[in-house]
Amino acid sequence: MDEKLYDVVIIGGGPAGYTSAIYSSRALLNVLVIESYILLSQLSLTDAIENYPGYKDGINGLELLTNVKDQAEKFGAKIIQANVSSVLEEKNKSNTKTIFEIHTDDNQIFKGKSVIIATGAKARKLGVPGEQEYTAKGVSYCAICDGPFFRNKHVAVVGGGDTAIQEALFLSKFAAKVTVIHRRDKLRAQKILQQKAFNNEKINFIWNSKIEQIIGENSVKKLNIKNIETNQKKYLDIDGLFIFIGFTPNTQYIADLVQSNAEGYIETDEYMHTDVKGVFAAGDVRANTYRQIAIAVGDGAKAALSCEKYLEHELI
Ligand code: NAP
Repeated sequence: MDEKLYDVVIIGGGPAGYTSAIYSSRALLNVLVIESYILLSQLSLTDAIENYPGYKDGINGLELLTNVKDQAEKFGAKIIQANVSSVLEEKNKSNTKTIFEIHTDDNQIFKGKSVIIATGAKARKLGVPGEQEYTAKGVSYCAICDGPFFRNKHVAVVGGGDTAIQEALFLSKFAAKVTVIHRRDKLRAQKILQQKAFNNEKINFIWNSKIEQIIGENSVKKLNIKNIETNQKKYLDIDGLFIFIGFTPNTQYIADLVQSNAEGYIETDEYMHTDVKGVFAAGDVRANTYRQIAIAVGDGAKAALSCEKYLEHELI
């Protein structure tokens, strides 16, 4: 057990968490950041970010994340890798003092006067036969990690949002052909991404369709696809399948402590307060937010400032 009582324990090593760490450690608070060794920040899996201010030619996600992490460390934040399993709230007898105990799945315990939750969200699963069996054998949730394995191959992408289209564009740099399979006849993605995809000769679309089964031998070989308008089924030969159908929040470890919505996203006010005093949430883990890096960074700054105020007035 780490006996030190940190002013703030930040759970999550993405743009929200590290921005909180920069602000809090620069305000001379004792800061511990616990980043997961299992769940990588979505930012680190993104190839080119074109809409983050200050980088007019775009920046690679891992590079941006490394920069903010280094900046947090420079101001004195302590960063460790662990997987948080629960957060417990302890009050003293007179109910005036709150300490949070943060437990990890390798039996470490950390103590904090306050907690900032910034654990983001992870890729949603399709839930069809073959998905689990062929994960890492042709089925992937990360184009930047696995795209280069599909040089001159045919890959399919499922989804119609920003992630699916952005990653289809990325995959077209390697693959000979990229087939986007979408359950409707319109994309949800931003128009600028749509335009790029429609103009890309390597990218084609299968509309109004869903994947019923992923079929392979040692690795993925084909998809069984059903047109949901006509109910017609067909097989599509492919070498890889990339699934980008949205996210679910990483909040299982905190679900008993703070209020979250039906999907598990944490409810906060505009100052990033949760319903538990001393616990704040920032970034993609929050309910009702735009899932954007710039927003996560803003949330992280707000959470840190609110946390600083909380610690000033706390009766310790
Ligand atoms: P999203 O916007 O929720 O889109 C998910 C897509 O997957 C939708 O097209 C949805 O279809 C489809 N889908 C959902 N469940 C499905 C299922 N079971 N089977 C088949 N298709 C399914 O998720 P996202 O694209 O990952 O984006 C998440 C957030 O990050 C968004 O707020 C987005 O704007 C943001 N983001 C921004 C950028 C950027 O600014 N460059 C890049 C990436 C992500 P329907 O359309 O029919 O609902």
